[in-house]
Amino acid sequence: MEVNGIELKKYELKPLPYNIDALEPYISKDIMDVHYNGHHKGYVNTSNTLIDRFSKIVKGDAQTGTYDIQGVVRGLVFNINGHKLHSMFWNNMAPEGKGGGAPGGKIADLIEKQYGSFDRFKQLFTEVANSLPGTGWTTLNYDTENGNLQIMTFENHFQNQLAELPILMLADEFEHAYYLQYKNKRTDYISAWWNVINWSDVENKLRKYL
Ligand code: MN
Repeated sequence: MEVNGIELKKYELKPLPYNIDALEPYISKDIMDVHYNGHHKGYVNTSNTLIDRFSKIVKGDAQTGTYDIQGVVRGLVFNINGHKLHSMFWNNMAPEGKGGGAPGGKIADLIEKQYGSFDRFKQLFTEVANSLPGTGWTTLNYDTENGNLQIMTFENHFQNQLAELPILMLADEFEHAYYLQYKNKRTDYISAWWNVINWSDVENKLRKYL
């Protein structure tokens, strides 16, 4: 769409980096179908709808007082972040054989240095993920200010992806990410998720900042 000669670009749903059933048995094909073709596509489509709405406001086609600008911006934050988080999430997983296990490389060195061992790190990350109230994400971030690997959480999609605190690894804890397969056993889903973590992706993300 064009506004006064300025083009606002739309988002696109990129293909998954593997087949829709590739993360079986840990994450079922049905989950992936609903999650990717339903939820992620929804974030992309709604982002694009809201970009149109915001463009009308920018252009002056909508009179002040006739729209809820906080609502539009909050919707943009939720949906744009939803799109970006899910794009990261898909690439952060890999089928059995390519994913899971323990990491090597720089990420393994940093984990050992800051957490003592991979097992201790895994235990703590799991403890954080399992105790997250309600809906949100648990992430491993690299703090470019002090070089710390920091386990973090945020509710819903309300995370601004600070360039100074990039996400290396992330677990989606919305019910849509596990309910079809694990019902209310979110802890079982988190245990299964460790089997499909794409450590090469984590390593590549980290190396951008070293
Ligand atoms: Mn999700």
